[in-house]
Amino acid sequence: MRSNRFPLAEINFNRVRENAQRIAQATGVALIAVIKADAYGLGARQVVSALADVVDGFYCFSLHEAVDAQTRETDKPTLALAIDETISAEDYRSHNVRPAIWDAPRAVQLRAAAPVLIVDTGMQRFACPRERIDDVVRAGDCDEAFTHATRVEHARWLREWCAGKNLRLHAAASSLLDVPEARLDAVRPGLALYRDAVRVTTRLLEARDTNGPTGYGGFVSATGRHGVIAGGFTAGLRPGPCRINGERRRIVECGMQTSFVEIGKSDKAGDEVVILGDDLTLEEVAKAWIVTPHEALWRLASSNRHAQP
Ligand SMILES: *Cc1c(COP(=O)(O)O)cnc(C)c1O
Repeated sequence: MRSNRFPLAEINFNRVRENAQRIAQATGVALIAVIKADAYGLGARQVVSALADVVDGFYCFSLHEAVDAQTRETDKPTLALAIDETISAEDYRSHNVRPAIWDAPRAVQLRAAAPVLIVDTGMQRFACPRERIDDVVRAGDCDEAFTHATRVEHARWLREWCAGKNLRLHAAASSLLDVPEARLDAVRPGLALYRDAVRVTTRLLEARDTNGPTGYGGFVSATGRHGVIAGGFTAGLRPGPCRINGERRRIVECGMQTSFVEIGKSDKAGDEVVILGDDLTLEEVAKAWIVTPHEALWRLASSNRHAQP
């Protein structure tokens, strides 16, 4: 059933695929697609199908996510953090998932699942300190290592600290894709795969002339008119930009299931309101919402999704 509940997120999986192809071509190294958190809200299973033949592997937070996303159906390996101590090497192997490990006892335990070392270059979370790299590599018989890099130095340190150990290395997520020095043997983007692949719209439920202070907080519409749209903070919305009949407008106040917007003279109930997409970028929305682009994308993509025909 095509959902007519709003806000509605249209997901363009072809765009996700094109983004991956462009990244692979521009970087010239292997591409590991980050599909954690249900592919940032876009739907991990469909993202995996769209990317299966254009990427070299997948990255998830946990084995459970990889199982839900059915990465096993592809012939590409998936990397997942070995946080859950109840998961065995056999569990990982049977799903073609390689556990990311950061201490020697766990490396020994999961050795049969070809564990991958995660090195701490600054994040200070789920990662191995520099001085224990050799111990863990030996314990797990590792042939691959990575770090969660936020600056080019992090990639440089990974390369220096792991030099001469015969390890395949990767560090760069979306923010370092343009930095050749950070590319190493593979790149590992999430956000960059999903850019411009989500269009979110809703509908004007009411449109009226403003008569004095309005809503919960008593805002006064700058246009002298205001409307109410379907979707409030329970759908992840926040005050910020939107677009109605070709004009930039503002979402001024969010209630639980509806929000107030400023509107123009001829805007009327039933009109489409664009919240993300067209010329409204994720960066612009995130800035107005005072959240990261990752958070803005997740909030918006995960609402009443459907694939763009
Ligand atoms: C989430 C994540 C990424 C992807 O980050 P983006 O900024 O979305 O590209 C890469 N590596 C690890 C380890 C991650 O957790």
